[in-house]
Amino acid sequence: MAAVISVANQKGGVGKTTLTLNLGYGLARTGRKVLLIDVDPQFNLTFGLIGMDVLNYETNNVGTLMTKESNVEETIVEITENLHLIPSHLNLSAKEIEIINAYNRERRLEKAISPVLPDYDYVLIDNPPSMGIFLVNSLTVSDYVLIPLELSYFGVIGMQLMFGLMAMIREETNENLTLMGLVPNKFTRQTKVPQARLKELRKTYPDAPILTTIPRAISLEKAQGEGVSIFDYEPGGRAARAFEKLTSEVISIVEGE
Ligand code: ADP
Ligand code: MG
Repeated sequence: MAAVISVANQKGGVGKTTLTLNLGYGLARTGRKVLLIDVDPQFNLTFGLIGMDVLNYETNNVGTLMTKESNVEETIVEITENLHLIPSHLNLSAKEIEIINAYNRERRLEKAISPVLPDYDYVLIDNPPSMGIFLVNSLTVSDYVLIPLELSYFGVIGMQLMFGLMAMIREETNENLTLMGLVPNKFTRQTKVPQARLKELRKTYPDAPILTTIPRAISLEKAQGEGVSIFDYEPGGRAARAFEKLTSEVISIVEGE
């Protein structure tokens, strides 16, 4: 049965999509079967993986899945043998109101994907930078949450919002939701500020595991622009090594040493 991991942070631009994509490839490279789900109406993950083909999925995407206009098998796109995608679409934000008014609205995603969970080792969900019904659906179906963040002042104090939402989800729809960890992103050693913020982060949230730090690397941005993983764009580089380390860390948390 797949471990379901939400990559979430209500702040935009912190690396949710970058993390989902590269961790997805990282896990798939080890032979694990991985399903990525894009529930962000801005469809950056989908665009990164299939480019303009996103236009072909108007009737088969995460939105139509949640409104039961498509079923899960016909909604899955094969990227590589081990890496599959449930795409987002331009019309996803228009679906939001329909889903909000639907019966069992918090469990639409859970119900839709449960038939295929036995087919995968990992499901990674890329979330929008907002606290709406899509994030609630994805936290409701998830075993774990991974939170990428930038080590800025607001990046550090902003965690409180996510933790509050997670507490509410545990109370209402999913008591098993676990914080897998925080992933400091765009880390740089050029100034002392990030180091100090990392310390601050440890002090402010002593119970939150802090996982592998991802360096600020232009290669990550370029790889995303070209629609490839960091393992293909710059194998063996600093960013690829960090994602390899993070992949092993995630595997050992989920599967044990
Ligand atoms: P989010 O999904 O949280 O909005 P993204 O993953 O789209 O964030 O990242 C925002 C921007 O920052 C993108 O252009 C991405 O390529 C870039 N980016 C993400 N992580 C890094 C990094 N470690 N180094 C350099 N650029 C990064
Ligand atoms: Mg994103």
